[in-house]
Amino acid sequence: MKQEEFVLKHGSALCSRHLADATMAGVKDPHRIRVLVVDRILLPEDPNLADASKRIGILTEDTRCMGFGHALIIRVDAWNERELIVHNFVHIAQCERAGGLEQWCREYLGNRTNCAKFTVGSLEEEARDFAREICHAGAAA
Ligand SMILES: [Zn+2]
Repeated sequence: MKQEEFVLKHGSALCSRHLADATMAGVKDPHRIRVLVVDRILLPEDPNLADASKRIGILTEDTRCMGFGHALIIRVDAWNERELIVHNFVHIAQCERAGGLEQWCREYLGNRTNCAKFTVGSLEEEARDFAREICHAGAAA
């Protein structure tokens, strides 16, 4: 995916706070992650792909943060939303576990489209639950 290469090349390394969160989210190689802060997350250029992304709900005009491969894109107004960022670290960890971005995508999409009722799927659930758990545990401490 071209976007991942772009972020890995132009993004910055994680600060210590984010490194700690990425490690907690299960990322094996948090030092490889690069972050890019943007004004707006762009939909894929290919109109068919853009359409599919919107339909499936992985990427819409309202997407504020997304993690894929070792790339993390954060919309500037989401920079302080720890839960959202942790959520995407979980996706990065899932990507590592799946053995790459392509395998992860396949698993993620299969996971969602195989469901009779269009549910969020277990990969999405894992990310949501984990992010909620560690952010709220932190707040309570
Ligand atoms: Zn997610």
